[in-house]
Order: sequence, then C-alpha cells, then structure tokens
Amino acid sequence: MIIDTHAHLDMEQFREDLPSVLARAMDAGIRYIITIGSDIGSSRAARDLAAAHEGVFFAAGFHPHDVKNATEADYAELKELLKDPKAVAVGEIGLDYHYDHSPRDTQREHFKRQLEIAREINKPVIIHSREAEADTMDIIASAGLPESGGTLHCFSGGPETAKRALEMGMCLSVGGTLTFNNSGALRDVIKTVPVEKLLLETDCPYLAPKPLRGKRNEPSYLKYVVETLAGLKGLSPEDVMRITSLNASLLFGICEPPKGGAIVYPIRDSLYLNITNRCTNACVFCVRNSTDFVKGHNLRIKTEPTAQEIISAMERADFTRYREVVFCGYGEPFLRLDVIKEVARAVKNRGVKVRINTNGHALLINGEKFLPELKGLVDAVSVSLNFPTEAEYKRYCRPKKQGAYNSLKEFVKQAKEYIPEVGVTALAMPGVDIEECRRIAEDELGVSLRVRKYDEVG
Ligand code: SF4
Repeated sequence: MIIDTHAHLDMEQFREDLPSVLARAMDAGIRYIITIGSDIGSSRAARDLAAAHEGVFFAAGFHPHDVKNATEADYAELKELLKDPKAVAVGEIGLDYHYDHSPRDTQREHFKRQLEIAREINKPVIIHSREAEADTMDIIASAGLPESGGTLHCFSGGPETAKRALEMGMCLSVGGTLTFNNSGALRDVIKTVPVEKLLLETDCPYLAPKPLRGKRNEPSYLKYVVETLAGLKGLSPEDVMRITSLNASLLFGICEPPKGGAIVYPIRDSLYLNITNRCTNACVFCVRNSTDFVKGHNLRIKTEPTAQEIISAMERADFTRYREVVFCGYGEPFLRLDVIKEVARAVKNRGVKVRINTNGHALLINGEKFLPELKGLVDAVSVSLNFPTEAEYKRYCRPKKQGAYNSLKEFVKQAKEYIPEVGVTALAMPGVDIEECRRIAEDELGVSLRVRKYDEVG
C-alpha cells in the first residue's frame, strides 16, 4: 500500500479523466490520496472529491500565493470545512518568497493564523516553504505546531532545515524532485533523515518523476519515487511503501496502523523473527520505549509464540526472497534458547542462513556451557557491544544482571568456536568513542565492528 499525501486532484488537468487517474492509482497500489486545498474554492472542491471517492481524503487551507485574497468569510468557511470527517490536515499553508504572489508580511500573518487554527482543532499542518526556510522554521518554532504535528511538503531544504524540522517532531515529504538528475543535494539530505519521518507525495499534476519529467504527474507515478527512496535508504520498495504508509497513517489518522504483534516480518532481503519482548537490558535508547513499530511492523506481542507457531508463520513466507533468517525482534532472543534451537533447525532444513542479533547476555541467561548446542544451527551472531567501557554500558544499557558487560565480551570470545560469523556493533551516539570500540572488537575480542546509526532501528 502507498499513500499519496499531497495531490491537487481538483485542478483542471484532471477534469477530463479523473476516474481513469484514480483507477490507475489503485492498480499501482495507491490506496489513499490526500487532495489539497490552496484557497477556499479549491478547499471546497477537495472536500467534494473526498466525499465522492472512498480512498480520497482532503486538507483545507490558504496557500501563501493566495492568502492576499482570503477574507473573514473564507476563514469562517475554512473552519467549517475542517470539521468534515475526511478533513485530515490544515494545508497547504506557509511561505513562498520565490514568487511573492502575496506580500511577505501578509504571508507571515496568514501562516501564523492558520497554525493557530490547526492547534485549536489539533489537526496536522501541511507546510509549503519556498526560498523562505529561515522564516518558515522561525514562525513554526515561535507559533508552535499542533500536537498532532505536521510535514514540510515537497521538501527541498538543506540539512539545517531538515534537522530543525526533525527536532520539532515534523515529517518531511518527498516526491518527484527526489528523482531529478540535479537533485543530488536533496538526496544527500534525505539519506540522513530517518525513513520513519518521511512521507511520499506527488504534488500532482506538478513535478512528475524522472522518466516522465515534464508530463502531467499523477498518483500512479509514485512508484518511481518509491524506487529512488528505496535505493537511497538501502531498503526494498515494499519496505518503503509499508513504512511511509504507516508514517502517513500515524500523522493524518487516515487508516488504522497495523495491530497485533508480528512474529515473522521482512526487512530488505532478511526475514526477521520476533520471539520475545523481554530483555535483560533496559537501554535508555531502546525503541520499545517510544513505539510499537520497527520499519513499519508492529512488534508488540501480548504472548510469546511457540516454536511451532513461528515455524508455521515462516511457512507462509516466500523463502526464495530471503538471504537469511534473523532472530531479533523486540527483546533478547537468548531468553528463549529452546525456541531458537527448534526454529533454527527448521530454517537450516530449508538451507537458509540463521543469524541472531543479541545483547550478548547469553552466558548469564543460559549458563557457561550452552554454546556447543548452537553448533551447526546458527551461522552468524551480532552482539551489541554498544559502548567501550563498563561504566557507559551500565549507564545507558542499564543491565538487570551483574557483570553483564564482561560476560558479553566473554560470550563473543567463546562464540567464535561454535559460530562461523561473530561480530559486534557499536552505537554512533554523540560522545561514544567508536575507535575504542573498534580496538576492543578487533584487538581484544578478535571480531569485526559494525557501527550502527543511533536513530536507526531495523
Ligand atoms: S538490548 Fe535491545 S531490546 Fe534490550 S533494551 Fe537494549 S535496545 Fe532494547
């Protein structure tokens, strides 16, 4: 499923063939579209389109180009439109200093006023900003966002703007411009933005993506943006669709996010197994503290699956698509050694590689002598060393067992005897001495180090 979070379906370019455009969108997996108002007339038209088409929602607001014409009567009508059950955002609103179709003072005044309306009704904002980054961000910072948040539509800003927006909890929306040959700087910025904060949009009929640049854009063309974003993020197109759709659902409340815990879930070309939500650490940065989701999958499980349930769930997966099966999920897999062994055996019978991502407390959990039981069942293990000192480990990982840091190192040393690939990871967290982590990994433990991004999980 894909959600196009920004389209202008009311525009004359779609007057002749909107039903065909929507049918092509459906065929391309675009399940929902938000059509956007830019003045009172187009906001009204957006509402009517949403009423007429099941998968279409709308945003209403006054674009900076048009604010010079917005009257008090228009504002009264805008507030009425925003009461519609299919009104999911206030937008598009903001500043445009490229064209200056409305005087800048007027733009700023109406931008603040519409932010205030959004805060009053707690609907997210869709913000247009062109050559006005500093003023846009300053106004958002001083006026305040609605609690439900917002997005910078058709993001074209630099790294500083992206950083400020993310710090304010905003999303960034990307579309056809991401695919253009001359958008290298934009792609560099988007590479640094967590995919959990990105939305997809066409801004159609404008900004058709690269192979169709110059043509009328339409929602079905989002597949080109999906492919570009997948390449940038090292994800599969399915990952990008799933994650950005969840992001849009959470921001705009368009559809229910996935419920229930996933036991078996794909990311890239790996199939992950979520076997427990328990852990012997309580890391301050643990994703479980802030969300139920990892790369678009809901991993919060109420009951732990049995080995047989996991094997049955795996049977439904297309193993030809996966390079490895990874015990990971939302907790420490070694808390369920018997399940690991039984499931790993089933995976090995299919000739697929088995990896375990672990906090390395396995010896403390299962005793000093269990490692030979993994021989032939597990091909790789990745251990979260995270920090170069025990003090930092205790401070940030908050282990529930005494001696966890040294036991982790011991586990790595011993695991090499029974598991072909053993490596450790460190967190690129501000202040962490990565070079010291590398020294410990290579010189002390005799394994390689992989550095993980602090704000990236899965
Ligand atoms: S070891 Fe992993 S699962 Fe456990 S608390 Fe830390 S981050 Fe969370």
